[in-house]
Amino acid sequence: MVDATFEERVMRGAVEPAPIVVAPGDGIGPEIMGATLSILEAAGASLDLKPIRVGEAVYHAGHSSGIAPEAWDDIRERKIILKGPITTPQGGGVKSLNVTLRKTLGLFANVRPCIAYDPYIPVRHPHLDVVIVRENEEDLYAGIEHRQTDEVVQCLKLITRPGSEKIVRFAFEYARRRNRKKITCFVKDNIMKLTDGLFRSVFEEVAAEYPDLKADSMIVDIGMARLANAPELFDVVVLPNLYGDIVSDIAAEISGSVGLAPSANIGGKYAMFEAIHGSAPDIAGQDVANPSGLLLSAVKMLAHLGQGDVAERIHNAWMVTIEDGVHTADLHRSGTSQRKVGTRGFAEAVVERLGEKPTHLRVISYASETMPSIEPARRPRAEKALVGVDVFVHDGDSDAEELAGQLQEAETEALRLVMITNRGVKVWPDGFPDTFHTDHWRCRFQPEASGASVSHADVVTLLSRLGEKGIDFIKTEHLCTFDGQPGFSLGQGQ
Ligand code: NAD
Repeated sequence: MVDATFEERVMRGAVEPAPIVVAPGDGIGPEIMGATLSILEAAGASLDLKPIRVGEAVYHAGHSSGIAPEAWDDIRERKIILKGPITTPQGGGVKSLNVTLRKTLGLFANVRPCIAYDPYIPVRHPHLDVVIVRENEEDLYAGIEHRQTDEVVQCLKLITRPGSEKIVRFAFEYARRRNRKKITCFVKDNIMKLTDGLFRSVFEEVAAEYPDLKADSMIVDIGMARLANAPELFDVVVLPNLYGDIVSDIAAEISGSVGLAPSANIGGKYAMFEAIHGSAPDIAGQDVANPSGLLLSAVKMLAHLGQGDVAERIHNAWMVTIEDGVHTADLHRSGTSQRKVGTRGFAEAVVERLGEKPTHLRVISYASETMPSIEPARRPRAEKALVGVDVFVHDGDSDAEELAGQLQEAETEALRLVMITNRGVKVWPDGFPDTFHTDHWRCRFQPEASGASVSHADVVTLLSRLGEKGIDFIKTEHLCTFDGQPGFSLGQGQ
């Protein structure tokens, strides 16, 4: 028996409307959301919509995350969010709603397809067709920052094995399901050997399980440069949070307009779909914004909800609209465009073309979009040994030699001073006298016998002696080996 279409299944009551929450957002948000929902309705999407209050007005009402408390109940119940852009108020005391939603709901994968629609939207790279899969919860976005001394502030970069495994596995599964051929990982593991090194080694382990897909890794700086100059070399790119944030904006920009690119934020239980652009206050309320980014995000949402036929209908009608040269102001070029339309006019043009297929642009199929749930493998715990401690010290008065003398006075039987670095550069012993230094010193203590282990009590004794000597220690990091392998950098700076 031939599978019934989604429409036929809706008609005979076989498809329950999918419950979702809708957040129109700020600035151009309500306009592009209105346009998007009108197209979804006309295309026969089966949705049960519940609006929630998020954004500027909620911030101003005193909720520092920009989300009304009762909205959490609706999100917990419905699990899928279609969201417009939010204006984040300037100044301290407020948190980014996007970061809050991503982290609270465990939306670990941010998927951003960037495609060229040349010659209808002329771009420098007509063969651009790349999907950026950005890790969404970790890295420098953990938001753990401290001011430690007069001169130094710190932001912790956290990369975890399960977090890396989830995003990398997701990228491979996505590629397989979307019939993509190659995954490239961008990292900076020549410098950040432990953090980015972990991400890359997880990538290589997972890649070995997908022999049908090509996999390679690049250093992020040259990777980004190549992507900007020759995007046709890439297919799916997977990367940690910060690099992903930057690369996906570059890829979206070279695809023609920031108003075009959709994104899906996917987690184990929840998912959120939104355009990548912001609330564009400069054009809000003028009926000129391009609703395509949000519309194509909603298309991804429909595919995720199992309404792939409707997703296809809308995406294909959208491409016909683009091919017909019916363009919003951001895309309109004399010569290639036929008609300049506003937000509403564009939505009407897409609705008029529902059921049509593009002539030259690739016809889209969403048959296999639904992602499996991804659980990282639990590994046996490593044999861990404490072999020393890095004590970070605030001292704006001493040079490296003077500081070393004071620290040596506080040495214990178990822990001896072996090295001092400043901003990661070794300044004692045998420092280079002209090395610039700040008031922030990393002082490494280890046992005299190489490789011997120490106890927590040994570290506490050292710290209390440092305290007695008036040394202002500001934090410690334990030096551990895991199954005999050092879990710390050597500290020479690169
Ligand atoms: P923006 O993306 O809002 O605007 C950048 C430029 O692109 C502007 O010239 C704007 O007119 C144009 N533009 C954006 N979307 C467009 C569209 N759909 N059609 C046509 N032109 C479009 O970035 P911004 O100005 O840096 O940020 C404005 C506000 O949005 C800020 O408060 C920022 O915090 C917020 N923001 C929110 C999100 C989000 O909610 N996901 C993302 C980025 C920025």
